Amino acid sequence: MPSFLVRLQEEVADSELRDFAAKFYEVFPDFCDQQLDMNLFTKKLQSLLPPGSGVSPQPIFAAREWGEQRTLVANRAIKAGTEVYCVPRRPEFTRESPDMHTLQVGLTEHLDFAAALPDAALTHHSCDPNGDLQIHEHGVIFVARRDIAAEEILSFDYATTEWDMDEKFPCACGATDCLGTVGGWKHLSEEQRVSRLARASPVVLERANAV
Ligand SMILES: [Zn+2]
Repeated sequence: MPSFLVRLQEEVADSELRDFAAKFYEVFPDFCDQQLDMNLFTKKLQSLLPPGSGVSPQPIFAAREWGEQRTLVANRAIKAGTEVYCVPRRPEFTRESPDMHTLQVGLTEHLDFAAALPDAALTHHSCDPNGDLQIHEHGVIFVARRDIAAEEILSFDYATTEWDMDEKFPCACGATDCLGTVGGWKHLSEEQRVSRLARASPVVLERANAV
């Protein structure tokens, strides 16, 4: 059983819903292989909940207008360690070269977030992010690094997942060790790499070792 479902069962006090969560996985045995997406899961859960149960699961993230752009925020408080979304890693969503919507999952493999899970493509960069992306064979999972408040913008550090970004950009995230310009792991100083080592993706480390 996927960890988020285990957590749902642990956190929800209502025994009826707990049993229901167990049944959900029996009904959708391949759900997580298709798309381990908490919002999709919540929608399915809402549609399947018994009428009058009084339980209304809330989506975990939401897209919001942000100036002239859009961004992804926590729709409710999120505990550290929570898996917020998973972008499915399937051949039809992978590209050979990066663009502004891809995430590097292999030396020449880039997962198109905009195609695979469009909301995930709205996740911002921060040099002091509230999330990390974990690369797995079945997908890329956003995990909360710390407790996140409702309406807080979700972010990860692009420099820890990209070797050499297609579109480099100036950063004004306000972190004390803000990079100033984000261009990928290739462009970090030794000191900047050391401070990010624990959250660097295996792909950029492999690429760095290949230089
Ligand atoms: Zn910054």
